[in-house]
Amino acid sequence: MATVEWRSPASEMAVKQFEIAAGKLNLDKNVAERLRRPDRALIVSVPVMRDDRRVQVFTGYRVQHNDTLGPFKGGIRYHPDVNLGEVSALAMWMTWKCALAGLPLGGAKGGVSCDPAELSRAEVQGLTRRYTAEILNIIGPEVDVPAPDMGTDEQVMAWVMDTYSQHKGHAVPGVVTGKPVAIGGTVGRREATGRGVVYTIGEAAKHLNIDLVGATAAVQGFGNVGSVAAKELADVGVKIVAISDKTGGRYDPKGLPIQSVIEYVTKTSKSFTLEGCPHGERITNAELLEIQCDILVPAALGMQITAQNAPKLKCRLLAEGANGPTTLDADAVLREKGIFVIPDVLANAGGVIVSYFEWVQDLQNFFWTEDEINKKLRAILTKSFYEVLDMSRTEKVDMRLAALMIGVERVSRAMLWRGLYA
Ligand code: GLU
Repeated sequence: MATVEWRSPASEMAVKQFEIAAGKLNLDKNVAERLRRPDRALIVSVPVMRDDRRVQVFTGYRVQHNDTLGPFKGGIRYHPDVNLGEVSALAMWMTWKCALAGLPLGGAKGGVSCDPAELSRAEVQGLTRRYTAEILNIIGPEVDVPAPDMGTDEQVMAWVMDTYSQHKGHAVPGVVTGKPVAIGGTVGRREATGRGVVYTIGEAAKHLNIDLVGATAAVQGFGNVGSVAAKELADVGVKIVAISDKTGGRYDPKGLPIQSVIEYVTKTSKSFTLEGCPHGERITNAELLEIQCDILVPAALGMQITAQNAPKLKCRLLAEGANGPTTLDADAVLREKGIFVIPDVLANAGGVIVSYFEWVQDLQNFFWTEDEINKKLRAILTKSFYEVLDMSRTEKVDMRLAALMIGVERVSRAMLWRGLYA
């Protein structure tokens, strides 16, 4: 990503983070040279027949960063901001995330630059099927396994699975994760990312001596990650004082009734957003980040916490549900302020961990219970949390750098064993 093709604010941030970790690890120079850029990046044109019979061509991407440890793994994002640089950054973060969790998987990401809210269901299906057909040759259960990300869900994964399977002539459930349970998905995957965020918050709270019962939290983003995190936090006794989505936020210092808010968004709201939500008072996304609370969970877009607003944060604990929500400049401010950060590659790893369980179950055609899934998820996240905390103490670095150092070191060690094929 040092080269111009991949350059964007997000990829520069990812590469800079990698370079800091590589420097601290004294990483082999040849390995570092390779890891700075993705293995492969595919750009595709995705023609879609709109409902008015007009063909609109969207741009799609699949970036495969590194597969030293196993098949590439990572979500598919449908969002107007999707571009090659952003997808490349997200692919690199997936490599470190999988390695940190100890999964036998590499890192990838895909996406289509579009606004899914402006597309009908038929149009999203057409877009998904054609995008899948365009990347068909570089995905597969042993090659690269996509999953949901922002703007995509289990229905989109079902269409990816069906399109891939139609081409192969038989059902291939293992080509994607985050599928509906009815076609080889796993129980617990939909909740996994938000649930994982809360498991890591639980460990951090023990470490910081925060009693979760009665503690306060603000959650930015009310999609699959934010809404589940808010609900699971409320279930363990945390008061959710603020939530938001792209339409703005709601605030109630006495705590918002999360179950009712979820029902409003999923059943009452025509746009499936917080717009018009009757609970609490209106606040903006910017105000939410600066609210006085114990726990702040950014679970929306990247680069939300910057050098401008970081000085105004009033939380004790920042748990990154989103990928890349905090810029490097902001990290320095948070360190100075003594805010404890659970970095994205750790906090939101629950999604890919349960994706891994789904993939394993598909490959062995044998399925586990939700209880088994949640126990295994908690075990991996708890182990990862303490590995990162130990590294941060012994190396005297912050939690993000510690997490990246562990991920990068594991990939590098594997690369050195495997050697260069030339
Ligand atoms: N999109 C999710 C992430 O960013 C999940 C990826 C996966 O399950 O493969 O971690």
